[in-house]
Amino acid sequence: MRTPRIEIDLRKITDNTRKTIELYRTKGIEIAGVLKGVAGDFECAKAMVSGGIIMVCDSNVDHLLKLRQGGIDAQLMLIRTPALSEVDRVIEGVDISLNTELAVIKKLSEVAKQKGKPHKILLMVEMGDRREGIDPEDLPGFIERILDLPNIELVGIGANFACMTHLPPDESTMRRFCDLADQIEQRFKLHLTYVSGGNSANYHWFNDTKDVGKINHLRLGESILVGVEAIHKDPIPGLVADAFILVCEIIEKKEKQSTDGKINQAIVNIGYIDTKIEDLDPLRDVEILGSSSNHLVIDLKKENLDVGDEIRFSMRYFAVVGCMTTQAVAKEYIHR
Ligand SMILES: *Cc1c(COP(=O)(O)O)cnc(C)c1O
Repeated sequence: MRTPRIEIDLRKITDNTRKTIELYRTKGIEIAGVLKGVAGDFECAKAMVSGGIIMVCDSNVDHLLKLRQGGIDAQLMLIRTPALSEVDRVIEGVDISLNTELAVIKKLSEVAKQKGKPHKILLMVEMGDRREGIDPEDLPGFIERILDLPNIELVGIGANFACMTHLPPDESTMRRFCDLADQIEQRFKLHLTYVSGGNSANYHWFNDTKDVGKINHLRLGESILVGVEAIHKDPIPGLVADAFILVCEIIEKKEKQSTDGKINQAIVNIGYIDTKIEDLDPLRDVEILGSSSNHLVIDLKKENLDVGDEIRFSMRYFAVVGCMTTQAVAKEYIHR
């Protein structure tokens, strides 16, 4: 079989999805499944939908268009503000997008009108991560300017955490975000369908809080795919971390002199061009010594392995991301 290849256990993704949905449902939160980490992979999307996901998200509009063309049975959400240059494709293939820029929303409205298609938006609010988002103080004024735009429906507000700052969302920040949702609903006499409170970094907040307030939606990728929360990479009870396994092959084995004497050194056919090596762990008693762009150097220690033998690796999130976005790694689906 081809190497390197990534084995994708679709049943495990479905199970993780189902358990995640059940967990968050206990406090009234709906989950959208985020596929950007697997480059919008259609089989992974289907596995999430089998587990109960009714909204799939990606930050790449082309990934979403492919899912639509493939006939995925879910709402499609673009979780990055559309580039002005891609507004046409967004209206064509996406049901809901996250937005922060007036110029973009105006263009969305124009194109949506031309094409006779309604488009839903969530406005992202800056809650301290210093990535995307409208300043909470500016939000009412912003909404005033978009409410009457034709073919645009404001369906919610969103926040994102821990992407730039690595700070987890805390109780008071989440409460401020809920208060903001309240204010907007009262001031504009509208109902926000989605108060979308974050991502896989929200797990500990969710577990610890007595009251999630108005938060009724989270967008989760890493948690579902590799079973961890996003801040400390703590495992989430009940979820598996091994839906993705990387299989590589030994292409050279030689005794080499190291600073600690002679070692049994192997070279494996992967490198940092292909994936994030720090997010790989060999499932054998061997040690990764280092990597170049296309060679991974391993101390085989006492393992009796030779040229042509395969070595399997468990994968954390950014190893999965790397392998799913390169042509150099073949995909093998298990439990399709
Ligand atoms: C990537 C992303 C997510 C999902 O993040 P995870 O940590 O993988 O759950 C959610 N929302 C936005 C806006 C994102 O960019």
